[in-house]
Amino acid sequence: MRIPCPLCGPRDRREFFYYGSEDYLNRPVGDDPAAWDAYLHLRDNPAGETRDLWYHEMGCASWLLVTRNTVTHAVLDARLVAAGGEGGASGGDILAKMKSGGAA
Ligand SMILES: [Zn+2]
Repeated sequence: MRIPCPLCGPRDRREFFYYGSEDYLNRPVGDDPAAWDAYLHLRDNPAGETRDLWYHEMGCASWLLVTRNTVTHAVLDARLVAAGGEGGASGGDILAKMKSGGAA
């Protein structure tokens, strides 16, 4: 599997550290035990599209929000968490070039 880092271009997934679901970006406010239990322990295990956090530890040291399909293993998008995820810097352009055979 190759992940299109928005800063480094397409890289082998072994350059990255997998952290987990994007749910970790949404910390609960306050001290509601049920909210913290859900935040720390409850996760979906979808067969299909998922969004996860990956750290490019052997590259630019950026946190990425990667959209991928757990059935086909297709990586659909990768964005910098620091850019805000949605609408931020994207690896989508790199993916489009990979699919069209162009250089990234
Ligand atoms: Zn990178």
